[in-house]
Amino acid sequence: MFKRILIANRGEIAVRIIRACMEMNIESVAVYSTADKECLHVKLATKSVCIGPARAQDSYLNMDAIISAAKVTGCDALHPGFGFLSENPDFVRKCQEAGITFIGPSPEAMEALGNKATARKIMKKAGVPVVPGSDGPVSDYKELEKIAKKVGYPVLIKASAGGGGRGMRRVYEPSDLQKLYEEAKAETIANFNDDEMYLEKLIVNPRHIEFQILADEKGNVIHLGERDCSIQRKNQKLIEESPCMYIKNDLRNAMGKAAVQAAKAAGYTNAGTVEFVVDEKGHYYFIEMNTRIQVEHGVTEAVTGIDLIKEQIRIAFHEPLKLKQKDVNIKGHAIECRINAEDPAKGFMPNSGKIGFLNVPGGPGVRVDTLLYNGYETSPFYDSMMAKIIVHAPSRLEAIRRMRRALLELTTEGITTNGDFDYLLLHHPDFVKGNYNVSFIEKHMEEILKWDQAAADIEEL
Ligand code: ADP
Ligand code: ADP
Ligand code: MG
Repeated sequence: MFKRILIANRGEIAVRIIRACMEMNIESVAVYSTADKECLHVKLATKSVCIGPARAQDSYLNMDAIISAAKVTGCDALHPGFGFLSENPDFVRKCQEAGITFIGPSPEAMEALGNKATARKIMKKAGVPVVPGSDGPVSDYKELEKIAKKVGYPVLIKASAGGGGRGMRRVYEPSDLQKLYEEAKAETIANFNDDEMYLEKLIVNPRHIEFQILADEKGNVIHLGERDCSIQRKNQKLIEESPCMYIKNDLRNAMGKAAVQAAKAAGYTNAGTVEFVVDEKGHYYFIEMNTRIQVEHGVTEAVTGIDLIKEQIRIAFHEPLKLKQKDVNIKGHAIECRINAEDPAKGFMPNSGKIGFLNVPGGPGVRVDTLLYNGYETSPFYDSMMAKIIVHAPSRLEAIRRMRRALLELTTEGITTNGDFDYLLLHHPDFVKGNYNVSFIEKHMEEILKWDQAAADIEEL
């Protein structure tokens, strides 16, 4: 097994990976920016190395600094977490050149899938249903206009390099196409230093349903069931759950097979996620494949009992999967709430502060992955996600009740989070019934915000 793994990340995911290393008797090396020297991942790792100033460009995105930290500390492998360099094939190649195993897919698979327009082509060829749209990237506005007309409105302009819900615009009227195209393109250039765009038909009120897959280097590919991630704001996930109560077994099996097919078609190895949108008639369409561990992986861990980070490490060490598809059993129901330092009442605007009193929920069936501790000062330089609460219970209703209870226990003095908002959302009758799609928050925003906590508390559901 690997002796020492460098974790090229920060925050709760760095802590999560260190925990897996500790349980596998592998030493861990944390890297940190000058803004992060007091962070939890630095305290928990076997060793730590400062890699530069606060700005991510100068530290967590500084490939040479990270690789030299790995070399100096004698690491034989590197885990990228999510965000930062996790989806950068040049970084994977640099690791390989330095003789350090990158815990993730090959740079070729990452490259092919990282461009979302190219990924669509691969999937189409492999017989995986994709959203109707452009055949690869569109070169200019004129072409976009033609394709939009052919596909039929409403359409969705998307960025080939997109991520985190950025670089996309919904277009309902042809007269808005040009303005929204310019907007989407500008956002793409600003965020991804790239301007390649493509077009998809806008599926109206879909659910976002994704499949976790594991693929070893011997050609074995399995899926670990689905996650419903339809509770979103700004095209970004806020609450995720597994299993998805909307899909019946036939559809689940078909989508699971398509996800495995997708991974095989791309020559994919390690853990990955195949994302689909599912329309109101139950038709499913591939939207993208994420070539890394996801924020919401804990939901799958809860219902399958499989430790995804350990599996990633074993696969990277060339071990064959011990599990077969028939060994994967989904038990009970899991829900995750992402706790962000953001104010739902102010358009989910991020805020920062110093943590005073902190109470982290606990008790039966509650897992909290967080970077918070008493006295932690949040940094405006990085992502606003502060914690993830994951609950597991025998049934969905029990999981909902458990999550409400956990949210009541959560106290993060010093910052405003979306915790209270989630608490109210979890009382909404449509959520309780499982009757929701990606427009849920947009549609019920006012209602949820106006909801009085006392009324929610006596809610029978
Ligand atoms: P998931 O599908 O796992 O929920 P997200 O798209 O929400 O993934 O992104 C996971 C994390 O990575 C988030 O913290 C997000 O801010 C960050 N992220 C996503 N895309 C990028 C990117 N291109 N560059 C930097 N960070 C990103
Ligand atoms: P990102 O790379 O930013 O995660 P995705 O392609 O995964 O982008 O899409 C993010 C979200 O945008 C989806 O979860 C869904 O809510 C919405 N979305 C994406 N494609 C479509 C589509 N064709 N029709 C409707 N909604 C879509
Ligand atoms: Mg996505």
